[in-house]
Amino acid sequence: MPETIIIGGGTSGLAAAYTLQRSGCDCLVLEKRDETGGRIAGKKRDGFIIDAGAQFFFTRYATTFRLMESLEIKDKLIRFAKPIGILKKGKVHLVDPDIKKMLKSPRSLFNARFLSFPGTLKAAKLGLDLARRWKNLHFVEAEKALDLDTWSASDYARRNYGEEVLEYAVQPLVSALTLGEPEEISAAYALSLISWGVPGLLTTRDGIGLLADSLSVKVKNILTGARVEKIIVENNRVKGVRVNIKRKKESIQAKNVICCVTATEAAKILNGVHPLITDNLSRTTYSSCVHVIFALPHKIMGETYAIAVPRKEGLVFCGLTDNSNKVETYAPEGCSLLHVYTYGKYAKELLNKKESEVINRVAADLVSVLPSFGEERIFSEVVRWEEAVCLSPPGKIVAAKRAAEAAQGYRGLYLAGEFMGMPSVEAALASGIKAAGDVLERA
Ligand SMILES: Cc1cc2nc3c(=O)[nH]c(=O)nc-3n(C[C@H](O)[C@H](O)[C@H](O)COP(=O)(O)OP(=O)(O)OC[C@H]3O[C@@H](n4cnc5c(N)ncnc54)[C@H](O)[C@@H]3O)c2cc1C
Repeated sequence: MPETIIIGGGTSGLAAAYTLQRSGCDCLVLEKRDETGGRIAGKKRDGFIIDAGAQFFFTRYATTFRLMESLEIKDKLIRFAKPIGILKKGKVHLVDPDIKKMLKSPRSLFNARFLSFPGTLKAAKLGLDLARRWKNLHFVEAEKALDLDTWSASDYARRNYGEEVLEYAVQPLVSALTLGEPEEISAAYALSLISWGVPGLLTTRDGIGLLADSLSVKVKNILTGARVEKIIVENNRVKGVRVNIKRKKESIQAKNVICCVTATEAAKILNGVHPLITDNLSRTTYSSCVHVIFALPHKIMGETYAIAVPRKEGLVFCGLTDNSNKVETYAPEGCSLLHVYTYGKYAKELLNKKESEVINRVAADLVSVLPSFGEERIFSEVVRWEEAVCLSPPGKIVAAKRAAEAAQGYRGLYLAGEFMGMPSVEAALASGIKAAGDVLERA
């Protein structure tokens, strides 16, 4: 019998297991899929590095970098700053990748010509507001931005910066980063995302998946193909879990359970424990994404890394990147590695469509952004995320806090996952490490 069971071998679960193991605590990770990594998993194919989920770290990811240091992979981190573009009326407007410089000098925004002169001034006001709120927009300490958690990003942006800034700055950025719409996201999360994105982006020479792989190698007890169906709780005390291991149901006893899955999945497996936990978890919503990858034998976007696509353009995707422009290790020389992200209602429509249908639908729209995009491909593949990014709708920060507090009423029960902070790799890792720390403290 393990002392602690960790449900989910994704970012938060692996971080929790690694932390416990380093303190000599016995634990077992149960992962429903055949592989660990969850939404930071990556892979290699034909000389290309594929980040299937998360694409980059922000420079403020202090927890992530500390963990990478302890895993001895911090030296693999690399910053990248290639031009990004915004599509407007079918034309790509390139923007200086140094957003900090851009926010300091609104003239460069105006020169990019995707906003009118009054729109540029209002965008500069957004920049000043971000600078003013800088300290209180925090991915791990989400409650610092509670005053912004009652607003949706769209209402907040429309009221403070006007329709143009909403539709051609906030919406494209927020949708590209969350795969949702600004109506579904709190102003707290949207402003945190934009402000954390300001100083720049990082990846590793081996892709984002390196973090999941390094953690998975270090964590000793991982059982894959093990879907937890229920957390067993008796007399306010955790007894273990009921798990389905390759279609065989069994119970595993444990003193502690750290639940490291999405909030919606946690609500299911905690069903019947306490409505304060499950109702609050159920208030969290997720975007869906069907993400198409095209490996091409030629360069197609020059040096440009990303193009954000405002919803007003009416395309099925909210953005695309050429990951060969992240770092040279991502693709063989002279090749492109396009990642195209469908979002919102389009993603939901495509989620259950055949691979060929998805590829054709995305390719049809892609030509309007990249006219030279054609049939010549090394490979193409589709990645489907029914629950892609936690959208952090208004009220989520308080709801996550209440769920965690209610869980404290049950001895041995701990919650972790991206939804505990501003959804991101950083928040997921920090929540897993904190839950492991709580287990150790109460041992
Ligand atoms: C396309 C995409 C792009 C993204 N881009 C970025 C980015 O650039 N930067 C960033 O910081 N974040 C990004 N994110 C978000 C980031 O990946 C997540 O916030 C983070 O990885 C979530 O970690 P987690 O541990 O909370 O959940 P997960 O990584 O989803 O881990 C949960 C694990 O639990 C398993 N599981 C679920 N249910 C059960 C069960 N009942 N029993 C057993 N196991 C179960 C799952 O299979 C999974 O492995 C992106 C996400 C996606 C999908």
